[in-house]
Formats: sequence, structure tokens, C-alpha cells
Amino acid sequence: MKTFNCPNCQNPIFFENTQCEKCFTHVSYNPMTESFEANEQLQPNDLCKNQSLNICNWSVAGSHQENFCLACSLNREVPNPKDLNGFDKWENLEPAKHRLIYQLLKLKLPIFSKLEKENGIAFDFLSENNKQKAVTGHANGVITILLSEADSVHREVLRKQMNEPYRTLLGHFRHEVGHYYWDLLFDENNIDKCRAIFGDERINYGEALQNHYKNGAPTKWNENYISEYASSHPWEDWAESWAHYLHLMDTLETANAFGVSFKLKKYPLKNLTKAICPNPYETTSFKTIFDSSVALTCMANSLNRAMGLSDIYPFVIPKAVYKKLNFIHNVLSNYSSIS
Ligand SMILES: [Zn+2]
Ligand SMILES: [Zn+2]
Ligand SMILES: [Zn+2]
Repeated sequence: MKTFNCPNCQNPIFFENTQCEKCFTHVSYNPMTESFEANEQLQPNDLCKNQSLNICNWSVAGSHQENFCLACSLNREVPNPKDLNGFDKWENLEPAKHRLIYQLLKLKLPIFSKLEKENGIAFDFLSENNKQKAVTGHANGVITILLSEADSVHREVLRKQMNEPYRTLLGHFRHEVGHYYWDLLFDENNIDKCRAIFGDERINYGEALQNHYKNGAPTKWNENYISEYASSHPWEDWAESWAHYLHLMDTLETANAFGVSFKLKKYPLKNLTKAICPNPYETTSFKTIFDSSVALTCMANSLNRAMGLSDIYPFVIPKAVYKKLNFIHNVLSNYSSIS
């Protein structure tokens, strides 16, 4: 993500801020200009309605709905703010969702609400004990996230149980929206190229998942997939790879915004140029993005270890996965150049 500044005093501002910490100006994020504006320069109805609940700091710029910002206009089912337990979790979900929308705009992907167009996106944030037995997932543009996922203790228990190296709310959003854009990006004219990389998605999805949960991933899955779950079905492989592409792009954009560069000549950074990490959204070559990301994640993991934390990017990308990420890069580059 980019870095932002206070519109009044230019002090750095974080993406989630509602107020400048130096001059105390109240600010709103404008997703169209990728910058913060002073609320005193805006009309009251320029602010997203969810600002009053303290779960959004965006203006309605670029939104198709009058009252809500582009990110909040995609919400369909959310907890009642009076349900304090549910609201607490919703509050944790929104920053991740807003980051997702920021990135979808960067990738020049279409974003519209299912409430206005049948093939749009809708977010349902549901509790587990509702009647229909909700699960986190995607179906026809509806992205369901279980509120319990927003409980960090519960999420960590699941992560351990499922033997996952990484489980975050942002990761969930990136994965699930990957299913949505698969539907949007592929049809009979271009599906063959996708099948050649990810396999034939026409194999029975339900059976494939059952089989995965019963028998686990194939041995040596890590030579072909980014995660064990990616090996369950071509759709999951796509969504997992897509999420990783988004991880790499966002971390690299952040490094670029901070002017991070590498000068080490020794392993493992030996192949790196001395230039600043590139802005990935302006980089045509996936190899450049990838090489910079390898160095960056290596550095970031080392920083985390210096603080006694686990790696921020606990993955190794084998050749087969590189090809998948490169394919996604090409699909998105072609898509943004024609739209
Ligand atoms: Zn300021
Ligand atoms: Zn909003
Ligand atoms: Zn999935």
C-alpha cells in the first residue's frame, strides 16, 4: 500500500486513521484520488454512513450508493451494532475488507454491488449459530465470512488444527474474492489457458473437497502448490495462488512507497539490483516483481524474527507456483489494459 499524508500538515497518516495525530484534523480517505481529505472540506453526506459507527474512514467518492462508501456499499448482511459481540468482530473485519477494496482498485478490477447488478459482489458477515449453517466461502458473488474468524484466538486455534502456516482476515478476503474474479475473468474463450495451468475445474468440486479433508494433500504437494488446500481442486488452487499474488503486490507496493532498497551482494539477495523495490502496479515483468518479493519477504521475515515473531511470509514458491502467479499477472495485465 501507498503512504499517505495529512491534507493539512502533511504528517504521515495510516490507511485506517480518522484523524491526524499531529494537527488533529479529522480526515476521510478518498478511494478515487488515493488520498486523505479534511472532513471540514467535505459535506456531511460525503462521509460514509459507517463512519458514525467508527468502522469506516472513507468518503463516498466512487460509490454507486448514496450513503455508503465503495467498500461498505458491498455489505449485505452485517451484525446489528446493538449486538456488541457481533459488532466487535465486524469492527475487526472492516479494515481488512477496506484494504482488499483498495487493492482491487489498484488492479483496475471492476467492483460493483450485487444489490445493483446480479453479477456483482456482496459481503455477508454471519455468526455460526444462524440457521443455515453458514461457512466462510464464496458463491455467485456472495462472500461469506464467519464472524468467529475475526476472533484472533479462535482463528489461531483453527490455523493450528488445520496445519496452516498463515491465516488472517485479509488472507480470507483475498482468497474468497479470487473465486469471484475467476467467474468474471474466464469463459469458454479463454478457459483453456487457465486449465492448462491449474487443471480441469470440471472435476466434481464437492467430492474433491471431501477427498482432501479425508486423505489430505498428496505427498510432495509443495512442489506444485502454494498450500495444502490449493491441491484440493483447481478452483482452490486458483484462489490460493490469487491470494498470494495479492500478498506479493501489496507488500511490494508498501516497500516501494517507503523507498526500500537492497544492497547486499551475498546470498540470498545476490541477484538483486541496487534499485529501490519497484512499484509492482507499474511493472510489466513478473520476474522483476517476483525477484524483488523474494528479497523483500526474506528481509521482512528476518525483521519479524528479530522481534521474536513468526515469519510474515511463511511460504516458499516452487517453479510450478511461479508459473501460476505469472499467469495471474498476465491475465490481470491484459484485463486492465483492455478495460
Ligand atoms: Zn495534520
Ligand atoms: Zn464505508
Ligand atoms: Zn476457496
